[in-house]
Amino acid sequence: MKVAYFTGIRKLELADRPRPEPQRPDDVLVRIDRVGVCGSDVHYYVNGHIGDQMLHYPATLGHECSGTVVAMGRAVRNLQPGDRVAIDPALVCGRCDQCRAGRPNTCRKLRFMGNAGEEPGALAEYCVLPAENCFAIPDSMTLDQAVLAEPLSVGLYAVRLAELTPNLAVGILGSGPIGLSVLLAAKAVAPGRAYVTDLIDRRLAAARTCGADWTSNAAAADVVHQMLAREPDGLDVVFECSGDPRCIDQAMAALKPGGLLVIVGIPAQQRVDFDVHVMRRKELTFKNVRRQRGCVAPVIELIADRRLNPDPMLTHRFPLSAAAQAFELVAGYGDGVIKAVIELHAE
Ligand SMILES: [Zn+2]
Ligand SMILES: [Zn+2]
Repeated sequence: MKVAYFTGIRKLELADRPRPEPQRPDDVLVRIDRVGVCGSDVHYYVNGHIGDQMLHYPATLGHECSGTVVAMGRAVRNLQPGDRVAIDPALVCGRCDQCRAGRPNTCRKLRFMGNAGEEPGALAEYCVLPAENCFAIPDSMTLDQAVLAEPLSVGLYAVRLAELTPNLAVGILGSGPIGLSVLLAAKAVAPGRAYVTDLIDRRLAAARTCGADWTSNAAAADVVHQMLAREPDGLDVVFECSGDPRCIDQAMAALKPGGLLVIVGIPAQQRVDFDVHVMRRKELTFKNVRRQRGCVAPVIELIADRRLNPDPMLTHRFPLSAAAQAFELVAGYGDGVIKAVIELHAE
């Protein structure tokens, strides 16, 4: 089978490797059909690290994927060969204090697909995964929608963490795949007034398609001033989805006293500073999102019930042989790209 490897900064190569086999009774062999290019993959592609997490070359990559079940161990009950599945890329131990406390997303032994030194990446023609990481999707759902289940689950988890209730004024700073995922999840479960900013007009247009009530380009306007003109009391909740530290300041300025900032974006830098006195005087709450927990199945249900339509997020499609082009496109924000997907096998 073909497997993609990072072999250096901005270097991606395909190699032939033997197809893996299910080892444990609860293992599933999945033919990978779609892999999404994530901002975090692109951090690795461009910088070779995320914070202090370094890549060692050659390294496999990718964690957003959907596919088709080929074979499984004898203990697997919930799946059959031919089932199409969305995949949760976080493999957890189920036994540590964090897992026992219902926090598998901070499992002490968590192994994430395609993360430096952890599980093999998803950008391969076949993967072996525990059955509990594979979620069968209904016939009404496409493999394209299933590959978006991972970023969408992060969006839904952020919305749940914010304990969002209907009719709130919500800011979403950054309208890439994660910002759009937060927007779609918020509109699906607790519709309110959604104010979305970005630096790229094409992404703001996608936000409007996904239900944003108002959008503005932060490169061209004082977005804090604009949002406060519409919400004089300030925003109830702001989701930072850009990774740009300037957005932390914008969020703090736009929030009402007692407001909540949810940090979802991944900054490129190691340290970020902010005005602690604004936080103190307004008694703001900061919450940080670590990927997601328990939100893949609910996202599948929301898509299947047509309460959430993620299709506007997917803008570009590449064959496996052009995977490097997909990474270059996303790294350079080229051609209005939002989510680029690599198609390994057609539906
Ligand atoms: Zn991702
Ligand atoms: Zn654990």
